[in-house]
Amino acid sequence: MIAPLPFPAAPEPTHGFPLRDGIVHGEEVPLPLIAREVGTPVFVYSASAMRQEARRLRSALASLADPLIAYAVKANPNAAVLATLAREGLGADVVSGGEYRRARAAGVPPEKIVFSGVGKTAAEMALALDGGLCQFNLESLAEAEMLSAVATALGRTAPVAFRVNPDVAAGSHAKISTGAAHNKFGIAISEASTACARVRELPGLRLCGFAVHIGSQLTSLAPLEEAFGKVGATIERLRREGHDICTADLGGGLGIRYDPAAPRPPTPEAYGALVARVTRGWDVRLIFEPGRLIVGEAGVLLTEVIRVKPGPRHPFVILDAAMNDLMRPSLYDAWHEIDAVQPKADRMIADVVGPVCETGDTFAVARPLERVAAGELMIIRTAGAYAASMGSTYNSRPLTPEVLVDGGNWAVIRPRQDIEALLRERVPAWL
Ligand SMILES: *Cc1c(COP(=O)(O)O)cnc(C)c1O
Repeated sequence: MIAPLPFPAAPEPTHGFPLRDGIVHGEEVPLPLIAREVGTPVFVYSASAMRQEARRLRSALASLADPLIAYAVKANPNAAVLATLAREGLGADVVSGGEYRRARAAGVPPEKIVFSGVGKTAAEMALALDGGLCQFNLESLAEAEMLSAVATALGRTAPVAFRVNPDVAAGSHAKISTGAAHNKFGIAISEASTACARVRELPGLRLCGFAVHIGSQLTSLAPLEEAFGKVGATIERLRREGHDICTADLGGGLGIRYDPAAPRPPTPEAYGALVARVTRGWDVRLIFEPGRLIVGEAGVLLTEVIRVKPGPRHPFVILDAAMNDLMRPSLYDAWHEIDAVQPKADRMIADVVGPVCETGDTFAVARPLERVAAGELMIIRTAGAYAASMGSTYNSRPLTPEVLVDGGNWAVIRPRQDIEALLRERVPAWL
């Protein structure tokens, strides 16, 4: 007699990836069809799910005067994803010249682009000054001095905000917490007066305000409230010192639900209510930089089981997706829900792994799953953010293709990388 296995309650169906007639679909398109036509592994995104998240956040922030929602491009920079969000009226938060160019190419107007990042180069500054932008979020005085020189040489005025480091514990994974004093990001709040006074002396700069971003996948509003409070006090102080402050960028970071059995992260509505309460009377234009919240739940990684190998504790389900396609489990010990595309009633407990030659290439340990066999399809859910964008070619595996589904339409929005591209290395003649 075998004891019943401790399986969690069946998850509620995800909006973009419903189970219909026993088969997981991307909106209206059966995932086996995409696997057949494109091959696996492949990322599949739901355009409707992204739009729904963008609209939900916008309506949660509707009580604010004309906020700018600048989508954090690094979460998922695919051209079709950016175009979907640009058409929803979102701007872009970019952290490199490449992301700036992607945002412009996807139709994001320059006045909706915020340039963040601790290591902007002179060439990146010049690119954005030439093309136009809402503001640079500066992270040091040395950066302000470099931007002043670049802007002056181009005969331009650069709109700037200082990212402040509020020294709060974000409560997220250490590798994605950014608002503690020992993190590389921002200037100390105690340096804000000196920094703003220096900006006033430097030619080619115009001070707009302050920015803050304390980390990603935040599951509590308390650290955000603490950080926003410090920004509010800074605005008040700098105004008293005679500075004209007109923007406050509250960053991104709102968490999403990876594990349906875990407590729900704060909703966009709760976040909007907090922002409205804390920023009352600031009299600035608010900027937001959500990434994960908009696209995270709108994507899955579709993969095929290569084989099931017996193990000492549990069988290993070996997928054709690996840590180079989705780094989050090996990088952050992240938990992702994994389901069969054609689930059966029969269940198993398994370690789910990829074919890469590292023990870190593990997606789940001792995980209750629907029983699967070689050749069957699975999905790793919540793979719309920080998944394809962090992909690599480790183990000489070509970059994973991406597909966008919208209702009954679907299209390849990035083809599988040609293996020839990886073989374009040269052996020097003198060797
Ligand atoms: C990564 C990042 C974001 C987006 O964070 P999410 O957790 O995806 O919302 C926003 N602003 C800055 C400065 C970032 O580095």
